[in-house]
Amino acid sequence: MKEKTSEYSNNFIYNIVKEDLKKNKFLSLRTRFPPEPNGYLHIGHAKSICLNFELANLHNGDCNLRFDDTNPSKEKIKYINSIKNDIKWLGYQWNKEIFYSSKYFLKLYQYAKELIKKNLAYVDQLTKEQIREYRGTLISPGKNSPYRNRNIKENLELFKKMKEGYFNEGEMCLRAKINMSSPYIVMRDPVLYRIIYTKHHQTKNQWCIYPMYDFAHCISDSIEGITHSFCTLEFQDNKRLYNWILENTSVSHYPKQYEFSRLNLKHSILSKRKIKTLIERKIINNWDDPRIQTISGLRRKGYTPSSIREFCKKIGVTKQNNLIEFSMLEYCIRNELNAKAIRTMAVLDPIKLYLYNIDDNYQEIFTVPNHPKKPELGTHEVIFTNTIYIEREDFKEKHEKNYKRLKIGTEIRLRYAYIIKAERIEKDIYGNIIQIICFCDLKTLGKKPTNRKNPAVIHWISIKNSYASEFRLYEKLFNIDNPEQEKNFLLFLNPKSIIIKNGFIEKKISEKIQQKINNIKTKNKNLFFQFERVGYFCVDLVDSKKDKLIFNRTVSLRDTWNKKKN
Ligand code: ATP
Ligand code: MG
Repeated sequence: MKEKTSEYSNNFIYNIVKEDLKKNKFLSLRTRFPPEPNGYLHIGHAKSICLNFELANLHNGDCNLRFDDTNPSKEKIKYINSIKNDIKWLGYQWNKEIFYSSKYFLKLYQYAKELIKKNLAYVDQLTKEQIREYRGTLISPGKNSPYRNRNIKENLELFKKMKEGYFNEGEMCLRAKINMSSPYIVMRDPVLYRIIYTKHHQTKNQWCIYPMYDFAHCISDSIEGITHSFCTLEFQDNKRLYNWILENTSVSHYPKQYEFSRLNLKHSILSKRKIKTLIERKIINNWDDPRIQTISGLRRKGYTPSSIREFCKKIGVTKQNNLIEFSMLEYCIRNELNAKAIRTMAVLDPIKLYLYNIDDNYQEIFTVPNHPKKPELGTHEVIFTNTIYIEREDFKEKHEKNYKRLKIGTEIRLRYAYIIKAERIEKDIYGNIIQIICFCDLKTLGKKPTNRKNPAVIHWISIKNSYASEFRLYEKLFNIDNPEQEKNFLLFLNPKSIIIKNGFIEKKISEKIQQKINNIKTKNKNLFFQFERVGYFCVDLVDSKKDKLIFNRTVSLRDTWNKKKN
C-alpha cells in the first residue's frame, strides 16, 4: 500500500512513529492532547494539537482529549468549555468521549497504595519549604527526610488518613522512595500526592488528596492505551520518573514519551500564569484580547483555523529551542486573506474633500470588483458625489520632498474614479482644516491622461455612502523580542499596543454586515475585508452591535515588523 504522507510528515516524530508502526504491525497509533483546564489555549498549544491530531489522522489512529485535572484550586469549567471549543474550531475531532484524569482518581489511589506496599512510597511530614531544602541542588545531593523509613503499615494508615481528611493542607504528602542523591532532581523522592481542600469541578468533594502531574500523567496515558506520549523538552528529565512509575506499578500498558521543543513566539507571552497577570492588571481585556496569541485572541483578531494550522506546518517539529518570528504567523494569515478577503474602501482618519465643479445632487455609481483576481467573488457598488472623505495622511498642507499624495497644486487619482487637483483649503478659526477644495477632471474616468504623469491613487468614501465605524489597530504588546524570559515582563509593555480610530466604511458594505451580524456572531464565522491601502480587517464579534460596527485589523498589507526595527 502506498504510504500516506502529509505536509506534517517531515519531522523526526513522524519518523519515530513510522518505525514503531513498521516494527509492530498490529500497533494502532493513539496519541493524546492533555491540557490542564487552568486557562485558555494559545498558539503554543496549537502546535501540540496539530502534532497529535495530524499524526493520528495520518495513521488512522486516534487522538484523545484528556483534561489533566489534578489541581482543583486552579481549574474551572469555563476553561474546559473554551478548550473544547477551540480544538473544534481548529478543525479537530477527538476520539470518543472526553477523558479526564479525575476519572482515574480511584485507580491512581490504588496504584499509590501498591507503591507503598512495595516500600517504594512513604508519607512525609516535612513542610513544603523543608522538602525544597532537603532536595539539594544540581551540584549538591539531597538528604533523606526523617520520615523516609516509616514502616509500610504506618504509611498505609497515614495515606488512608490523608484521604479521609484527618490532616490539613501541607501537613502530609506522599512521596516516591527513589534516590535523594540522584543526579536527576525529579528522581529525588518526588511528591506523588498532596492534600487540597477545594471542591473539584468533576469529582466535587469526593477527594481531598490529589495526584501530582508526574504520577497522574503516565498512569492516565497507560489506562487510555496511549502509544506515543508527546510533550515539550522541559519534561525530558521527567521521563525517568514517567518510566519508573510505570515499571513499579502493575499497569499493563507501557506508553512511550517523546519530547519536542515548545513554541516560543517573538514579542509574545504564552505562559497562562503571565496572561492571567495581564488580565488581572487590566492591561488586556480578557483571554480573547486580540493583542495576545491565545486561540480566542487570534480568532477575534481575524485569524482563521487554516492560517493557524498552516503556521504550525511551517514551524515544523524539532528538538531545537528557538524563537519564531511573529511575521511568520502574520505571513500565514496575510497569504490566506490576500486570496479571499473582499476588497472595499474604508477611511480610518477622515478629512473632508469638496469637488467644487460637481453639482450637489450629482451622483454616479461605479460597480467595482470584490477581488481583483477573482471575478467569482462578485462586485459591489460605490457611490461617487461631490463631497467625500479621504484619509488625513493622504493630504499634506505643506510641501514635503518625495510626498506623492495630495498637496495643493498637485493631482491624485481617486480609486476607481477621477483624477482630482487640490486647489485650496478651508480652515476653522482654530486653524483646523474643514475641507480640501479640489477640481475634478471629469475626462479621466478609467483613462490614462495624455501628456500627464499617472498620479498616485488614494481611497475615499462619499459622505452619502459612508457609515461611521470604529477601527481597532493592534501593535505588538511588548517592545522586546522575548518578554517571556523577563522576570519583570510588565516593564516592557508597548503603551501603544492598541490604537482606536473612528472613521467610515462604505454604507453598502455595512448594510450587508448588519444583515448578517447575528448569524456571524452565533456561528463564529467572521467576514474578512481588505480595506484598500489600509490592511486586512474583520468584524469584532464581541463588541460589534447592529448599530455599531467595530473592525479589528488582522494584519497590515505588508510585513512591517522588520522595517519598524530599523
Ligand atoms: P503554560 O505554560 O501556558 O501554562 P502548560 O504546558 O502548563 O502551558 P498545559 O495545559 O499543561 O499547559 O499544556 C497542554 C499541552 O500543550 C502539553 O502537552 C504541553 O506540552 C503543550 N504545550 C503547552 N505550551 C506549549 C508550547 N508553547 N509549545 C508547544 N506545546 C505546548
Ligand atoms: Mg502543564
